[in-house]
Amino acid sequence: MSDTIFGKITRGEIPTEFLYEDDQCVVIRDINPQAPTHVLIIPRKPIPRLVDAAPEDQVLLGHLLVVAGNVAEKLGVGDAFRLIINNGEGGGQTVFHLHLHILAGRDMTEGQLATGLN
Ligand code: AMP
Repeated sequence: MSDTIFGKITRGEIPTEFLYEDDQCVVIRDINPQAPTHVLIIPRKPIPRLVDAAPEDQVLLGHLLVVAGNVAEKLGVGDAFRLIINNGEGGGQTVFHLHLHILAGRDMTEGQLATGLN
């Protein structure tokens, strides 16, 4: 499996501030934010795309959702954020290591599918 920048970040090989971390995932600020709050929840396990997740990843995927909610609350956007997973090139994915985007701090009600992401 080819490595990605997120593999290097989760392993600590590229110094990056972790807003949150545990044994399963890290949370960082997006380098090219599409909203005033834009953070990424990245599992340490390098699953390339959501469709590559296996039944054994079920607990991990649930954990990522719980972390997303907790981090959104911690960042003060718990009442108004959008959670996004881009899957595959055609879905706008550019880094092939599964990650969740939290976007908040701008109008999230205009255009239910408009994310501001690629
Ligand atoms: P996606 O298009 O869903 O694959 O999202 C990849 C995201 O990773 C984009 O929003 C990028 O801005 C972000 N990104 C790429 N490299 C870095 C990095 N070194 N640190 C933080 N965010 C990054």
